[in-house]
Amino acid sequence: MVSIAENLERVREQITQAAAKAGRAVNEIELVAITKTHPAEKVREAVEAGHTVFGESRVQEARAKIPELPSNLRWHFVGHLQKNKIRHALPLFELFHGVDSLALAQEMNRIAAEDGERPRLLLEVNVAGEGSKFGFSAETLRAEIGSLLALSRLSIEGLMCIPPLAEEAEASRKFFVQLRELRNSLEKEFAVKLPQLSMGMTQDYWIAVEEGATLVRVGTAIFGERPKRQKD
Ligand SMILES: *Cc1c(COP(=O)(O)O)cnc(C)c1O
Repeated sequence: MVSIAENLERVREQITQAAAKAGRAVNEIELVAITKTHPAEKVREAVEAGHTVFGESRVQEARAKIPELPSNLRWHFVGHLQKNKIRHALPLFELFHGVDSLALAQEMNRIAAEDGERPRLLLEVNVAGEGSKFGFSAETLRAEIGSLLALSRLSIEGLMCIPPLAEEAEASRKFFVQLRELRNSLEKEFAVKLPQLSMGMTQDYWIAVEEGATLVRVGTAIFGERPKRQKD
């Protein structure tokens, strides 16, 4: 069996190649190793291989796992955050990738003010308009970005997307381009800085790097297949 260290090495290598192909500096791209469903021992193997940035998609699971691991690791939340989990989540995660509604952002802002937190976050865009997915449509985001930016406890640093599952990595490219172009136009229209683009998973992360990702979220290619569970 291939080790987690070797998997990490291969993923890093592919990121380096994709960055070179796109003429980008590789240090602009952060690899977030997604550890959901995997036990702390597997995460520790990645830590021993020098990795420090990890992502979880469920608060309950993260609350159990994070304390079992070294305290110098950095954790990102990549899932759909439920309002009743915000208070527990805020102190655990340095970046929230999937903030998917104004109502959620408002609630995060309120609780952050009460608890003295200053959460950093990305806004999730439902790039393919899939009914089954969370996220802002481009139109909703334009309509609501003023209200989002007015939430004074929150630091909104960019956008995130999860394109539809596809057989071919190339199928994701147009959605990554769409996310980047939406970011560029929001920056112009609203005079804001949204430097972070969180896009790309095991199936397509090198394409995402070619199209400007600053954060790639890779689980399976590092830790292997996940045991099945109902829904992330
Ligand atoms: C699980 C998950 C990932 C990682 O998926 P892989 O296909 O295993 O790389 C990335 N992003 C989000 C939001 C996830 O829930």
